[in-house]
Amino acid sequence: MIKFLDLYKINQVHKEELLDAFSRVLDSGWYIMGNELKTFEKEFAAYCGVKHAIGVANGLDALILIIRAYKEMSIFKDGDEIIVPANTYIASILAISANNLLPVLVEPDLDNFNIDANLIEAKITSRTVGILPVHLYGQLANMDKINKIAQKYKLKVIEDCAQSQGAVNYDGEKAGNLGDAAGFSFYPGKNLGALGDAGAITTNDDQLAVTLRALLNYGSHVKYENLFKGLNSRLDELQAALLTVKLKHLDSETLVRKSIANRYIDGIKNKKIVLPKVENQDAHVWHLFVIRTDNRNHLQQYLTDNGIQTIIHYPIPPHKQLAYKEFKSLDLKITENIHNEVLSLPISPVMDLDEVDKVIKLLNEY
Ligand SMILES: *Cc1c(COP(=O)(O)O)cnc(C)c1O
Repeated sequence: MIKFLDLYKINQVHKEELLDAFSRVLDSGWYIMGNELKTFEKEFAAYCGVKHAIGVANGLDALILIIRAYKEMSIFKDGDEIIVPANTYIASILAISANNLLPVLVEPDLDNFNIDANLIEAKITSRTVGILPVHLYGQLANMDKINKIAQKYKLKVIEDCAQSQGAVNYDGEKAGNLGDAAGFSFYPGKNLGALGDAGAITTNDDQLAVTLRALLNYGSHVKYENLFKGLNSRLDELQAALLTVKLKHLDSETLVRKSIANRYIDGIKNKKIVLPKVENQDAHVWHLFVIRTDNRNHLQQYLTDNGIQTIIHYPIPPHKQLAYKEFKSLDLKITENIHNEVLSLPISPVMDLDEVDKVIKLLNEY
């Protein structure tokens, strides 16, 4: 069987280095808020080209904490609105409602699955305080346009970079450095994946960084002094050490993803299948390779019967989830169609080319 994502294989490649990192942490006797975290934060900030990278417990917390920090800084308040793509993974939307702000859902552009920047201005009201673009499936959203709108209306731009570690725009700027602040997830299946839960926030804003560092640690800058009603969302030493190892290999692994994606794009020639479109090769790190087709469930079953594992990202859009009953009558046709038509093919840095070719052959015979 060709697995959708073989996490065992992905981490076995780095076994020696990961074991070294593990031993170093074990033998240090220091497991929270130490040198491993400092090193990872420094290296990840340099990688993204930003002033501050702040380790947190997971990607959802990264987004929650950014919005929470803007509230503590009196930039956001309860009831304010944040514009977010309707077809994102639900975490982007949860981060807004967790802070008592209102997510305003905007339809995506079918060509790249990212928020349709042309639809944003019509959704801005006197309560709008931010835009939360998601670089979905690994491809950068239209940040030039989003940042222009944000400037015009004085909005904060919070990037959701959970799927886009290392994506670069035409100016050579990386995901995480394209807005006011960014949330990253290092969930094991992400392009930069820990061996457990982990996340980070990047920003060039000193005041925001200081506020975040307190908020993620019980609202405390100084031990036993609490400025805010904070959270415990620390990134531990072990995950930080493992991530420092994985970060070194991220760019070469992204290149493998790109070559697989291009092989799919060149090889799949079936009128029933709509392939993903890419404008700028560097701006897509291929976290997922997502095709569209009318009879998606049928195609998925065909691939399963032929030993190919695929996944649907995502089967139910956030506004149709029971958790968001209040949004269930929103008219979001593009989003609903996407959720009915998308299928993610296997892609990963450890997938062999003959596996890729087998998937291509089956799709062309379908
Ligand atoms: C994975 C993901 C998150 C959440 O990350 P966790 O580390 O699982 O909390 C947020 N947004 C998007 C788009 C994601 O894919």
